[in-house]
Amino acid sequence: MKRGFFVASFGYTNMCGIIGYTGMGNALPKITKGLSVLEYRGYDSVGLAARIGEEIATVKCRGRIGALEEKLKMQITAESHTAIGHTRWATHGGPSDINAHPHRAGRVVLVHNGIIENDGELKRELTAAGRTFLSETDTEVAAALLDVCYDEQNDPVAAIRAATARMRGSYAFGILFEDRADEVFAVRAGSPLILAKGADGYYLASDMTALLPFTSEYACLEEGEIAHLCASGVTVYAAEGKTHTPVWLHTDMTPEAAQKGGFAHFMQKEIEEQPHAIRQSLSPRTASGLPDFSADGITPDFWRAVGSVQIVACGSAMHAGLLGVRLFEELAGVPTTCHVASEYRYHPPVAREDTLVILISQSGETADTLAALRDAKRKKLSTLAIVNAVETSIAREAERRIYTYAGPEIAVATTKGYCTQLSVLYLIAAAMAHAKGMIGEQEARALVNTLVEDAPAAVEGMLAKKEMLRSLAELVAQREHVFFIGRGSDCALAEEGALKLKEISYIHAEAYAAGELKHGTISLIEEGTPVVALSTEQELYDKTESNVREVCSRGARVILLCREDAPVSASAEKTVRLPITSHAATLFAALAALQLLAYEAAVLRGTDIDRPRNLAKSVTVE
Ligand code: GLU
Repeated sequence: MKRGFFVASFGYTNMCGIIGYTGMGNALPKITKGLSVLEYRGYDSVGLAARIGEEIATVKCRGRIGALEEKLKMQITAESHTAIGHTRWATHGGPSDINAHPHRAGRVVLVHNGIIENDGELKRELTAAGRTFLSETDTEVAAALLDVCYDEQNDPVAAIRAATARMRGSYAFGILFEDRADEVFAVRAGSPLILAKGADGYYLASDMTALLPFTSEYACLEEGEIAHLCASGVTVYAAEGKTHTPVWLHTDMTPEAAQKGGFAHFMQKEIEEQPHAIRQSLSPRTASGLPDFSADGITPDFWRAVGSVQIVACGSAMHAGLLGVRLFEELAGVPTTCHVASEYRYHPPVAREDTLVILISQSGETADTLAALRDAKRKKLSTLAIVNAVETSIAREAERRIYTYAGPEIAVATTKGYCTQLSVLYLIAAAMAHAKGMIGEQEARALVNTLVEDAPAAVEGMLAKKEMLRSLAELVAQREHVFFIGRGSDCALAEEGALKLKEISYIHAEAYAAGELKHGTISLIEEGTPVVALSTEQELYDKTESNVREVCSRGARVILLCREDAPVSASAEKTVRLPITSHAATLFAALAALQLLAYEAAVLRGTDIDRPRNLAKSVTVE
């Protein structure tokens, strides 16, 4: 079994990590070891539940595995043979001891990866039936629902089936029932889970890498299947009720290769995770087929009342904002401007009563963006944050917030963070356009469909062409200067392409409006200078082609990213064709191509891709 297997099957993070064990061995050191292997996925809290005699003990905390081990020493001294563990990346409720998993409800103790989209509705129902909740998580709601079903059915598999039938969203659960000693149950839908067989027992994990220290025999749990693990074996209950024992496969992946889930860099892993991240980001807001931010507390009336928008952000988030300007204005007819956060306060753009200020930050702690947010609030403007890390300063202080649910992003140069910001901005544009009557219901549905279906598929399509992009990167990697050009929205995309390349390869890259180059910068083009030309807009193709010709006649070597149906360029040396299923498909495919180009160029130059010099993941100084 080769690395490719993991890349294809488990190479995406669904929020965070799960591990479980039952057998003759000592469970606790296995769980903590497995959790420490899962650290590469990024997490903010950690916890475990272990069967000790008749009881299930839980230990959990915000922070690192070291902190959990300290707590564990104090709280559990007995040996355990059955346990489940979890690393959490908070989506519902901030990182805290209480929100950390496992969660307990009655006889059920469970850990969860993913998002239960209808948790609000289920929580209301369970509360009305007398259930109380300690945490803010969707996971505790799932635990309570399962406990209710267990009371009704008194059979674990039937209860899991009944509870999950009521859940919308994505999940992988590791479950203990108080009265089922030495048994572990698991189920998954939309989040990965695998089973494994060791010398002294059976395991489950969200990622095989967590189990490589113990075994190399594994089996995949399929969508909707329920697994029942005990010391003597594993039974799998297929969705239609049939049971089977797993067919064990062998992997020859080593624990060393497992760092970063088998990828060479976090950045590569995160680029690959994008199709999943886009779906994860949009699914809670598109369940009805229409753009719907009600789970974020935002109604169509709110969008209808927006008179103008100011987008404020830094770096890549600001580039997402530049595309947001185009989308908001073209789709929804809402006048929109985009601002560098560090400059916002020195020349605050004129705002009206109905101006909405949108702040974008992956980490939610970007100091410049936070300062701009506070400035906007002082002026009593309405504020909305688009943030990945939940309960962070920007998310908390803004009046409204939309989480991007990209999962943890570890590479300093953002890829899936940016990509999900763009997906959310696109969906907001569709929501505003629909609320304001700029587009009808049918068009809104069609737009949602292009985002949910075409955008991830287009990224997947480009990922399949990475060999080709690797060869194009050779054109770029040996040079000191590269230019990115484009017209219209390609201008904004060019900015992101250039930034990605600069950040990780240290090649000087500049983005220019294709038509502006001749007003000065063209003097820098010399024999062999690589120029990446973007041409994703059909009506602008001819004009961009003229600019390609201009630079070629001055010695440039052009890589052209253009629509599948564009005429063959007479001048470009290399062409990357982009799908034309929809605007979203073309846009997201172009983005993935730019990311791969930068990544491969950096690989060729041998730079420290995940931690480029002088850069920090979260810039918390102004
Ligand atoms: N949605 C759950 C939470 O916020 C699970 C997150 C995860 O996958 O770590 O607790």
